[in-house]
Amino acid sequence: MSRRKNRHIATQLLHNDYQTGIQHGSLHQPVHNSVAYGYSQSRDLADVFQGKQSGYAYGRASNPTVSALESKITLLEQGLASCCFASGMAAISATMLTLLRAGDHLVSSSFLFGNTNSFFNTLTTYGIEVTFVDATDVQNIIDATQANTKAVFVETIANPRTQVSDLARIGEYCAEQGLLYIVDNTLTTPIAFQPRDVKAGLIINSLTKYIGGHGNALGGAVTETGIFDWSSYANIYDIYKKGESNSWGILQIRKKGLRDMGATLSPEAAHAIAVGSETLSMRVKKSSENALTLANFFAEHPMINQVFYPGLKSHQEHLLATELFGSYGSLMSIELHEDINCFNFLDRLELVISASNLGDNRTLAIPVAHTIFYEMGAERRASMGISDGLIRLSIGIEDVDSLIEDFSRSLSVTSL
Ligand SMILES: *Cc1c(COP(=O)(O)O)cnc(C)c1O
Repeated sequence: MSRRKNRHIATQLLHNDYQTGIQHGSLHQPVHNSVAYGYSQSRDLADVFQGKQSGYAYGRASNPTVSALESKITLLEQGLASCCFASGMAAISATMLTLLRAGDHLVSSSFLFGNTNSFFNTLTTYGIEVTFVDATDVQNIIDATQANTKAVFVETIANPRTQVSDLARIGEYCAEQGLLYIVDNTLTTPIAFQPRDVKAGLIINSLTKYIGGHGNALGGAVTETGIFDWSSYANIYDIYKKGESNSWGILQIRKKGLRDMGATLSPEAAHAIAVGSETLSMRVKKSSENALTLANFFAEHPMINQVFYPGLKSHQEHLLATELFGSYGSLMSIELHEDINCFNFLDRLELVISASNLGDNRTLAIPVAHTIFYEMGAERRASMGISDGLIRLSIGIEDVDSLIEDFSRSLSVTSL
């Protein structure tokens, strides 16, 4: 197991705000709502613009409340620097539009969050070639690599079928080839897995999900691990070749992706996410324990045809997940028996909510083919293994017995 132990991340996360010395001894970084920042010496303002001095100039490019959250994400991922965005999709789109150009090629896992899949298809209309492959085996990534390949993009555990990418071997391959390796860590969270350990250059987290955790704020982040050497990467502008070459990428993402494209995280959302993150390690532990219990319950239930959860021995990448992750997460999908109408099943649940989010404290369920994967069409759904009766569950932190009661009742009634 490559996870480095005992870094006391939960402790550091709780204490790092006030250690920067906030006014009045405040324990939280305050919500700074100012868009502009005044300087008594105009030279200082110029120095901030030119990057010669750290500071704030205009709220679209940076904000102290957001910076405090960025330092928490950097801490969680044991990275060099992070840049926050208004949502996870904003983080992904800004990263790709900043680092790829027409004529470049991206190799991506075909098991992707639906909107990431949709966005990568949009990239192809800008002259960026994308090849989707089964990333559970590094060989498929190797086979898809071309002379113009710039980057490889994977998710740790894919949504909704929970395929686990061959993360360590893909990392080795990217390092050998000098390819930028981008890992979306949303489903595992930095508590269960740190993509830095498998040589990822950039890490994406949707802060909307587990890190914020309460379903009350959208946000996203990109973290530079410091592992990738940008000096051999063709698409960095000369003006961003400042300082060590392992941090040029995040600077370009901040300037071209955040400042110019403008999907800025609001200070209020940053505050909500920062407060939510204080309980991340507890929530991850509880929700993944609940998920494992429920996965075993579903696996034995006669009205469930299949359960997709990496913690089950029957899961195709169970061994891989055990090697890589500290826990198996709290997302799973279940395929209902043909006799059960998925809408009736969902409507009979009294506790579990039909809603489109994951990583919430509450257990949420969604009929995948009819909602989040509807737009991509039946053919692409079939290629991703998404059947019409597939229900995605994001398990929360409720008492597990109340969840089992709710699912048991709904399954017994609908099967009558
Ligand atoms: C939700 C999600 C995103 C997008 O995040 P938003 O904050 O909803 O924009 C990206 N990747 C994964 C794996 C996700 O689950």
